[in-house]
Amino acid sequence: MSAAASRTGPRLSLEQRLKERIAREGPISVHDYMEACLSDPDAGYYRARQPIGATGDFITAPEISQVFGELIGVWCIAVWQQMGSPEAVHLVELGPGRGTLMADLLRAARIVPAFRSAARVSLIEQSEALVAVQRDRLDGQGVDIVWRDRIEDVPPGPAIVIANEFLDALPVRQFVMTDDGWRERCVGIEGGHFAYVVGNDTVTPPGAPTHAEQGAIFETRPAADALVEQLAMRATHHPTAALFIDYGYTTTAIGDTLQAVRNHAYADSLDAPGETDLTAHVDFAALARAATASGLAATPVISQNQFLRGLGLMERLAKLCASADERQRKQLMSGAMRLIDPDQMGTLFKCIALTSPGLPAPPLWGAT
Ligand code: SAH
Repeated sequence: MSAAASRTGPRLSLEQRLKERIAREGPISVHDYMEACLSDPDAGYYRARQPIGATGDFITAPEISQVFGELIGVWCIAVWQQMGSPEAVHLVELGPGRGTLMADLLRAARIVPAFRSAARVSLIEQSEALVAVQRDRLDGQGVDIVWRDRIEDVPPGPAIVIANEFLDALPVRQFVMTDDGWRERCVGIEGGHFAYVVGNDTVTPPGAPTHAEQGAIFETRPAADALVEQLAMRATHHPTAALFIDYGYTTTAIGDTLQAVRNHAYADSLDAPGETDLTAHVDFAALARAATASGLAATPVISQNQFLRGLGLMERLAKLCASADERQRKQLMSGAMRLIDPDQMGTLFKCIALTSPGLPAPPLWGAT
């Protein structure tokens, strides 16, 4: 037995710890289960893994095509200009993954050197493993980059916030309609295995319909509401614009969207906690409601297809293709098409911008 093991006993897996917790305290909410699976300090999915890319569990838009980050760069520059081109602007990315979006964005921003010198980049990332990848990727960009734990830690000043596939990784609460109303959906143990069960008390989830069929599931996302509050607080003092891109739905609806993904395939959400990516679709309507309730302006929700084409995807692609060889051209075309094809990411993925009420409608939304 090693010295460490003799002092502390053998290390328990996250699964064992969750089972002990449930045995002790009773079923835990889906929210707390999801939070532990994703963010447990020792064994949470995002803490130590390299989830993104061909060798990871899933792939994201910036990893598919450089055009994605470049066009978001164009969007940021236009927003900065709408703010009156302030000398300093916080450029904040939530959940920057492998740093690819920010690298492509900063490269595209070379066309407006004043924006690049104004940009103070803050990366909000909870995964130490990904921070290391981001450091490597963004080394030598010639731009100030600071890693922070929370958006609250970004110093005062105008801010442009971007987040691709960040919100879907924040835990959701789920509620189940029963005989006498909504109850929290929980994870308990049956026959030694995790199982979905229903909590004891009836509750009134904010925004939920009062009537739904028995067994219907409704979701809320407290951390997204808290994030919107933070943005709204900033926006009362400083020009603020935040762009969220994610998969989700535009009308608040009933449905269980919790999904587990491992090795690019769907998996069981109760299997191998901490080793599987758990996400849930984003309720864009709820996000917009939370934003307007806290004093921010929310744009209409548009599809990723509309967003990228509106920002000039086809023109950018034509330019890149003009100086590419045949193999590169094929790659550029297939990557970009995957982002905008309605059968792939074009319509499932959606975009919304939340801004200080004093700012003009952000580019694209202003133009449409
Ligand atoms: N935006 C990237 C990565 C998306 S995956 C891309 O498009 O490729 C989700 C990212 O959010 C990861 O970087 C993950 O580590 C980070 N993340 C998830 N929950 C977080 C939290 N609560 N705080 C900070 N970062 C978080």
